[in-house]
Amino acid sequence: MSKPKIAIFSLTSCEGCSLAILELEDQLLDILGAVDIVNFREGMTERSWDIDIGFVDGAVSTPTDIEEVEHFRQSSKMLVAIGACACTGGINTLKNYQDETDCRRYVYGEKFEWFPTIPAQPLSNFVKVDAELPGCPMVKEEFLEFVKCALAGKQFRLPENAVCVECKKKDNLCLYEKGIICLGPVTRAGCAAICPSYGSKCEGCRGLVSDEALAAAGVNLREQYDVALEDVLADFRLFGAYQGSELP
Ligand code: SF4
Ligand code: SF4
Ligand code: SF4
Repeated sequence: MSKPKIAIFSLTSCEGCSLAILELEDQLLDILGAVDIVNFREGMTERSWDIDIGFVDGAVSTPTDIEEVEHFRQSSKMLVAIGACACTGGINTLKNYQDETDCRRYVYGEKFEWFPTIPAQPLSNFVKVDAELPGCPMVKEEFLEFVKCALAGKQFRLPENAVCVECKKKDNLCLYEKGIICLGPVTRAGCAAICPSYGSKCEGCRGLVSDEALAAAGVNLREQYDVALEDVLADFRLFGAYQGSELP
């Protein structure tokens, strides 16, 4: 039986999520035994467009990105968004709140060129996405688990609970006790609460928890810390994961 053919693509991003795959090293060798990587700009020169699973990092933020993501979709039986940029638009969405000319000048200086650009958006705004592996960068272990599930024909599921659950298991002192608004209560778990474990607030790179968990977080935040859910979500902009939709 032929091995599944895998591709890894990048759109507008730092390509850190693609790099995270290369950093898997020993585990990558195990994966290579079970799949064929047929298209991966960061890791090989050959290109094939007959793809079983296409992984994409990066947001759609130019007309060329739209053409490319449509091509990736047409070429891949399954398309998976990897990282915050691909899942929610990620850090690129900060440009959506800025004046476009100021933004170009800030990044490229006075001699900036008028190459075409559009507001940064997730892949799912343009094509059908079969699965998402969130985070900035994505969690490498989740990528591995996803590939194993795909090879075994099992369904992969992201954690449903909030970062706080993992943070409390580590016995971290909650940052709300220090008067710091942390996005852990409203952010999807799966990163082992790495930021609060090092004393930094969660910035929400893994996207929002489910509506049910969000409603529960609202109650806890009000009762425990007298903080309104709206005030926490007002901070939830860095990775484009919350666009001000209706609260549950
Ligand atoms: S999600 Fe973060 S690490 Fe991944 S490509 Fe985007 S900016 Fe880079
Ligand atoms: S709010 Fe932040 S610091 Fe407090 S438990 Fe949740 S993740 Fe940890
Ligand atoms: S703690 Fe929050 S910001 Fe940090 S990696 Fe986890 S989800 Fe992302």
